[in-house]
Amino acid sequence: MNDGPAIRVAGLSFKYAGGVQALQEICFDVAAGEAVGVIGPNGAGKSTLFLCLAGVLPIAAGVATVAGLDPVRQRRLLPTKVGLVFQNSDEQLFAATVGDDVAFGPLNLRLPAAEVRNRVAEALAKVGLVGFESRVPHHLSGGEKRRTALAGVLAMRPEVLLLDEPSMFLDPRGRKELLQLLRSLGGTQLIASHDLDFILDRCSRVLLLDRGRLIADGPTATVLSDAALVEAHGLEVPYRLRR
Ligand code: ADP
Repeated sequence: MNDGPAIRVAGLSFKYAGGVQALQEICFDVAAGEAVGVIGPNGAGKSTLFLCLAGVLPIAAGVATVAGLDPVRQRRLLPTKVGLVFQNSDEQLFAATVGDDVAFGPLNLRLPAAEVRNRVAEALAKVGLVGFESRVPHHLSGGEKRRTALAGVLAMRPEVLLLDEPSMFLDPRGRKELLQLLRSLGGTQLIASHDLDFILDRCSRVLLLDRGRLIADGPTATVLSDAALVEAHGLEVPYRLRR
């Protein structure tokens, strides 16, 4: 375990090859065990931030540390500590069966076969997919695909979870179950979402991004009840917080 913040981002900027400046001078820390929401309109830079923290996009300016690791220089170690669940589960799932998909990460760690089997069973149990090992990922419902993708990440027992739009495409029951699951998992969670009610239920703190800049960083209820602030950045105050 590292003793510093679970996530440290300082002066992080990212520009796509096409010239879009997707992140500009972003700074924030997340303490171990915190669940923090990342909100903002389409194109704000939420996914880009996650891809930088997960070592998928190379950070050219500024620094980031996730679970004590540098996502660029220590990229190979990252999957054991940091799990990214993509917005689109179809981009994440690739194996012929659910069991093979969830086993992929642990197999890459060259863990003994019995340990791999344990981890797959444990991860599938956590997401409520016991008995799904031989199912075909592409024949699953949207919610089941999302759970399978999460199980693949959980099988690595990461300290930090990066969840991009986790409640998208879930029906109300699936959404409620996901909320309970994320609460029970603990660890450090960064959750990007347009589902502000979900963020309000899960995250005590929120980061508001717009056009690549960090606009606000504060308690979720305080930020989300500021109508002038959220409306200026293309969002709406959740019903529960309207006065
Ligand atoms: P969000 O997740 O908040 O919707 P993104 O991080 O996806 O925002 O996008 C931030 C900005 O970067 C947007 O202007 C988007 O068009 C641009 N962008 C995203 N992905 C790419 C890419 N692969 N190539 C070029 N520009 C991109």
